[in-house]
Amino acid sequence: MNIILLGPPGAGKGTQARKLVDERNMVQLSTGDMLRAAKSSGTEMGLKVAAVMDAGELVTDEIVIGLIHEQLELDNGASGYIFDGFPRTLAQADALGALLVGMGETLDCVIEMQVDDEALVARITARSTCGSCGEVYNDNTKPIPADEKCTNCGASDFQRRADDNEDSLRTRLMAYYKQTSPLVGYYYAKGDLKSVDGLASMDDVAASIKSALD
Ligand code: AMP
Repeated sequence: MNIILLGPPGAGKGTQARKLVDERNMVQLSTGDMLRAAKSSGTEMGLKVAAVMDAGELVTDEIVIGLIHEQLELDNGASGYIFDGFPRTLAQADALGALLVGMGETLDCVIEMQVDDEALVARITARSTCGSCGEVYNDNTKPIPADEKCTNCGASDFQRRADDNEDSLRTRLMAYYKQTSPLVGYYYAKGDLKSVDGLASMDDVAASIKSALD
């Protein structure tokens, strides 16, 4: 089963993708994670995209399509892919469709995670993640434990993303509404779209996704 998690920054795509990886043995393909890895390891591409990412704008279609293409070849034969943060433009959606056809795969479902903007600002400005396993923490609802060890993997490497600030978030939201939200109509017209309430608790969102997929 191949699925897309679609939604604005802070909607909980990464959190739900990790749950699906654990529960269904699927492979998470997050272009945001791939780009951050390239940025922190200082590759030529990473240096090129760093300023664009920090400002909250989208990097070029060519770069992200290339990353997904590469990763699909590496993970060929996986039991299913979760596309997290990709596609974000119509050109990326077309490219993904063509890549899947080329691999003899189909896209089974697009889950739109609906959340309102006010909740996104509150979530994102309070967010930190474990640098080791990607577990997400929130200063208000799920604070970093007192012993400063990740509850999932035990590491003590908590990080705040450079683009998790109000200025970048405004740009990221604008990019979502201008460039990514047309994909809701695109996938609806194809008959692939299911929408869930992303503001519910993490477990309730997971249950809604489960019933959408099953
Ligand atoms: P994310 O972790 O998905 O919020 O992505 C962080 C940043 O990486 C975004 O604000 C963009 O700058 C860049 N990015 C991630 N995925 C894409 C994509 N599919 N297309 C263009 N830019 C992307």
